[in-house]
Amino acid sequence: MQEVHLNINGVDVIAEKGCTILEAAAENGIKIPTLCHEDRLEPYGACRICVVEVEDARGLLPACTTVATDGMVIKTETDELKRIRSTIIELLLSDHPLDCMTCESAGSCELQDLAYEYGVKDVYFVGEKHEYEKFVDGPLIERDYNKCILCGRCVRICREVQGVGVYDLMNRGFDAVPGTPFDKPLEESSCEFCGQCISTCPTGAIITLPSAGKGREWEMEKTKTTCTYCGVGCQLYLNVKDGKVVKVTSDYALGEPNHGNLCVKGRFGYDFIHHPDRLTKPLIKKGGRFNEATWEEALDVVSKKLLDVKEKNGPDSIFVLTSARCTNEENYLLQKLTRAVIGTNNVDHCARL
Ligand code: SF4
Ligand code: SF4
Ligand code: SF4
Repeated sequence: MQEVHLNINGVDVIAEKGCTILEAAAENGIKIPTLCHEDRLEPYGACRICVVEVEDARGLLPACTTVATDGMVIKTETDELKRIRSTIIELLLSDHPLDCMTCESAGSCELQDLAYEYGVKDVYFVGEKHEYEKFVDGPLIERDYNKCILCGRCVRICREVQGVGVYDLMNRGFDAVPGTPFDKPLEESSCEFCGQCISTCPTGAIITLPSAGKGREWEMEKTKTTCTYCGVGCQLYLNVKDGKVVKVTSDYALGEPNHGNLCVKGRFGYDFIHHPDRLTKPLIKKGGRFNEATWEEALDVVSKKLLDVKEKNGPDSIFVLTSARCTNEENYLLQKLTRAVIGTNNVDHCARL
């Protein structure tokens, strides 16, 4: 690694050559506040919350888009920076509904967190406020642009990460707002309902509808697990309240293989978990009717029937198809059972077909 040597807040630090001031600070445990930055996205420099003082530089520099160079002397927390950041937050709140009491994102809202951190209580900029209609995009997504802070994260994640590009920023100045082609609902666009835009939105402007009203952020216990829908093995959190999964989220920090990204199945396909029709016990068909059985009874029936077929028609009359919904270990065991116990190489995997 090629290094650069910097001084941040009076401390000498080392960072990787080519990284931004924001990354250099984060690498050394120094937090610089941001609103438009996200680890999954290219630097953008829209919100200006991350401005820092750099010795001998003309004016303040945005930490998220400024490359850290050797010998830089940087200050990230001064009274002047605090005043500027507070003013930016006040400006954002001046056109904001401020309904944190009922907002789905309260507790996980980056704007709310910053207003708290910088002690912004009153809004001094009084003027026109937007009153946009909410978009209800089918059963999964709701967009309320009254809470939008124009960070562009939804636009960028859809384009840069998902490769779809449903949104763009429409209009100019005070009327700038994210939008879909011809302002149509997401179902009438090329949207894949991956929910990446929900996951990156720093406020309550884009929310997950199925979990709306089902619990506040701080009431949910997060259990890290692996998505069961396919062999990619995305890492996610089951958000559980009162013993029930009410939402699925992920996080860049969970790392490989998905770095916080999920598809429509992983993010929204969890209602089967508590569905009353879900099979939780084996069923054995007798006299045209399914009857509940124990696992021992069910496995006994399956092994007897497989042995019958093998005896009558030989092992190659049996074909075993395994599933991407199983773990690697389960798939390994099933092919071992097929080859070593049943005695055939007739084994395949749904992901290969
Ligand atoms: S988006 Fe954030 S700041 Fe705005 S109402 Fe919701 S919780 Fe409050
Ligand atoms: S759900 Fe996915 S594809 Fe649809 S707009 Fe959001 S990021 Fe784009
Ligand atoms: S909808 Fe959310 S992510 Fe998109 S620009 Fe507005 S605040 Fe940012």
